[in-house]
Amino acid sequence: MKNCAIVGINWGDEGKGRMVDFLTDHYDVVVRYQGGGNAGHTVINSKGRFALHLLPSGIFRSEVVNVLGNGVALDPENLWIEMQDVLSKGIELTPKNLKISDRASLLMPWHRELDGLEENRLADKKYGSTKQGIAPFYSDKYQKKTVLAGELFYPERLHAHLQDLLEWKNLTLEKVYGAEPYTMDDLYAWVNEYCEKIKPYICDTGAYLRSAQQEGKNILFEAQLGALRDLDYGIYPYTTSSNTTAAYAPIGSGLPSLQLSDVVGVVKAYSTCVGEGPFVCEMFGEEAEKLREAGEEYGAKTGRARRVGPVDLVATRYGTEVQAATKIALTKLDVLSYMEKIPVCTHYLVDGQKTDRFPFPDALDKAEPVIEYCEGWNCDIAGVRRWEDLPEAAQKYVLMIEEAIGCKIAYVSVGPERESIILR
Ligand code: GDP
Repeated sequence: MKNCAIVGINWGDEGKGRMVDFLTDHYDVVVRYQGGGNAGHTVINSKGRFALHLLPSGIFRSEVVNVLGNGVALDPENLWIEMQDVLSKGIELTPKNLKISDRASLLMPWHRELDGLEENRLADKKYGSTKQGIAPFYSDKYQKKTVLAGELFYPERLHAHLQDLLEWKNLTLEKVYGAEPYTMDDLYAWVNEYCEKIKPYICDTGAYLRSAQQEGKNILFEAQLGALRDLDYGIYPYTTSSNTTAAYAPIGSGLPSLQLSDVVGVVKAYSTCVGEGPFVCEMFGEEAEKLREAGEEYGAKTGRARRVGPVDLVATRYGTEVQAATKIALTKLDVLSYMEKIPVCTHYLVDGQKTDRFPFPDALDKAEPVIEYCEGWNCDIAGVRRWEDLPEAAQKYVLMIEEAIGCKIAYVSVGPERESIILR
């Protein structure tokens, strides 16, 4: 597994951070290549419990070099706060083990504000943004109206660029939303307080990655969210504003010639979804509350209660295809141990037709889940480390998912800790 991407197959929160933390043992470099601080990876290891938003999950292994690629939404303020938190817990972060792409665009102070203003304007039609400024950020990036991290090394050009952007952005803030304009003083306060702090870590990460590749280093590519949130292949417009698919790794990392040798798709043993939009297999009431409690399904960034449901084989098969996964890591199997019978969404009913194909986003509103039940195993499996020690009913459940999605389940996770995993 020389070049391996770890990606989400579902709606995000599948446990990717936990898998990266586990697999980084075999890798020299870990790269984040898309997204921003709008989602969280929770990692639990001997150093403590960490909610990472932007930092790659390889930072806990001292010999791993971590890269934030050009495809990420680089929020200097949140990144610096996150770095402070990690540093305060004794994790080392130096320009040697953390490298930020000079081609990454900076998430500006107004992006977060614009996210909130737009969600308020949309009122009950809102998309359920995490208000971290990600949509306004990527819109501006595509309009070429952001600042590249490397511009911090060219103060004169930066000054002129900030002035142009300020004039342009204040038009939107004042005229569209009736909000307060920003001043150059505001922007320089932000530059000095946050951008200058992360500046020592900014470098030509593309050149670094190319040399790492030539030296035969093993590189892991880490994505945020999941296939169903991909801007192009997800449930538009209830997607994120970047590509969460493995196919984006070459562009967003700084290695355009990259050929991935492996894609590990992370699937949760049941479904969760944060925010608005169709979620065909959603459970409600007491049944949902029990699953939410058992899986501790509350957002790492927002604390929001996640919507929950049974494993959705239709969406998971689609996610596996879209990610071109070569292996699957199934996480949180232990959470289902309390169920006597385990519901599984095997098909959708769309306009009265039973289908196992994932439909066009608009058709999802009308889709109904077809639910079948598997036997539960009714015992604690958190301590199991070998496949043959898993109860037969649990093995059957894993094999049923494997067959339905057509991809080998190579890892079965039975707890949040690094070692709580079964290799198949
Ligand atoms: P990510 O963004 O995909 O990394 O996912 P999150 O961090 O949002 O959610 C995964 C949550 O599940 C974290 O709190 C993990 O510690 C936890 N977790 C991961 N794998 C397992 C597992 O196999 N069992 C249990 N009980 N918890 C797990």
